[in-house]
Amino acid sequence: MTDSTEPSFRESVDMMFNRAVGLMDLSSGLEEKIRVCNATYTVRFGVRLRGGIHTFTGYRSVHSEHMEPVKGGIRYSLGVNQDEVEALAALMTYKCALVEAPFGGSKGGLCIDPRAYDEHELELITRRFAYELIKRDMINPAQNVPAPDMGTGEREMAWIADQYKRMNTTDINGVACVTGKPINAGGIHGRTEATGRGVQFALHAFFKDAKGLAKAGLEGKLKGKRVIVQGLGNVGYHAAKFLSEEDGCLITAIIERDGALYDETGLDVEAVHHWIAKHDTIKGYHDSTLIEDGASVLEKDCDILIPAALEGVINLGNADRIKAPLIVEAANGPVTSGADEILRDKGVVIIPDMYANAGGVTVSYFEWVKNLSHIRFGRMQRRNEESRHQLLVDELERLSADSGVGWQLSPNFKDKYLRGADELELVRSGLYDTMVDAYRSMADIWHNRDDVTDLRTAAYLVSITKVAASYRAKGL
Ligand code: NAD
Repeated sequence: MTDSTEPSFRESVDMMFNRAVGLMDLSSGLEEKIRVCNATYTVRFGVRLRGGIHTFTGYRSVHSEHMEPVKGGIRYSLGVNQDEVEALAALMTYKCALVEAPFGGSKGGLCIDPRAYDEHELELITRRFAYELIKRDMINPAQNVPAPDMGTGEREMAWIADQYKRMNTTDINGVACVTGKPINAGGIHGRTEATGRGVQFALHAFFKDAKGLAKAGLEGKLKGKRVIVQGLGNVGYHAAKFLSEEDGCLITAIIERDGALYDETGLDVEAVHHWIAKHDTIKGYHDSTLIEDGASVLEKDCDILIPAALEGVINLGNADRIKAPLIVEAANGPVTSGADEILRDKGVVIIPDMYANAGGVTVSYFEWVKNLSHIRFGRMQRRNEESRHQLLVDELERLSADSGVGWQLSPNFKDKYLRGADELELVRSGLYDTMVDAYRSMADIWHNRDDVTDLRTAAYLVSITKVAASYRAKGL
């Protein structure tokens, strides 16, 4: 954990921001306007549970409204506090700007251990929290659109959407008040996997960047690279699964809240995930070594370290012992600003949170657009695309037969070519395009400006430039 000499999470984000604006030519007034958090609403509400009234504290913070709606997840964790929510809201502003999702930044949180309540109790608590936010327009399809974060998922988003609809019965766009919903409640295919999928795509983009690889002292392809993942929740599980199953990475360690599993030859991510779902612990899992002090595994030798759980896990206390040449910040704020400096000096390359975990908000954007257009992606085009492809295949086969050449299109090619894209394919393609474009915009600065030595500063430069342009256009 971070020591008392470290700045808070929000201060840490501000310090990283200041480092970047120091390289820009912004007026100090505009600089401050972008950096500060516009508003944070704190709510304390009571819910009758287990024969008594329980009081909960929640927050919704709006960092920047240069674009609306503002966007950002709702977190359920005992660690939630105003400072954390404001830091996360600021990161949302920069993240949305970087990947060109047309939103301002926001974040919410409820100070609660979701594992301490059953499903019915969680529904009562979530609906009451949502009620408090909805009645103040802090959940609204045009103004403020939450999504899942740590401790929440599609179940909570479905309750929130339903609560909004109960309170706004004539709002035809009501379902767009929150993203990350289940498919049958207005969700989009590919949202649950999106943040982990985005981490995979970020690594694909990085491994195509020869200069970036050289800066990290890495070479070759992703296949065979040794990866340590912290947190096998939504983000960590999907990232680890796709990297091992599709890219041939070896997941040599999985760090969870109650220890770490280690296997130099690569863990079976799916099997570990099943084990945790069944036993609620990694302890007892066969075929690997259990290391009780999970956090110490962050310091083990590997090619890629993916912190995908909490903020501040790489800090002044352990930064100098981190051996990974490449860190992918799948979580928000896993590296403190002090650790960032130490790691930069050591030559470690960090793919920063605002880029690495932007897959979630990118697909949330697609879901919001789908909800507002009231039609699933691909519905109008798919069959039309298939019949046009069929025309071409028929013509090629006719030409081949008529000319006596006797070419045959392979059945595999025909299957793939003839099938029009469904929603999941379109979502993945849109996400890939977004991640590749955003990577290029950062790498361009990273590789071409002598005063920018890291990807995080490059990412801040890209996003602050866009937010500043937006404020200027409003006359500020
Ligand atoms: P989650 O609740 O699904 O998973 C978190 C995981 O971390 C759990 O498996 C939990 O057991 C584990 N964990 C908790 N404390 C730990 C500890 N001390 N050491 C190791 N593991 C620990 O949360 P998530 O949605 O996967 O979010 C993880 C991170 O990714 C957060 O920082 C979140 O802000 C960020 N993020 C999430 C999304 C999203 O779409 N869910 C999008 C962008 C960023």
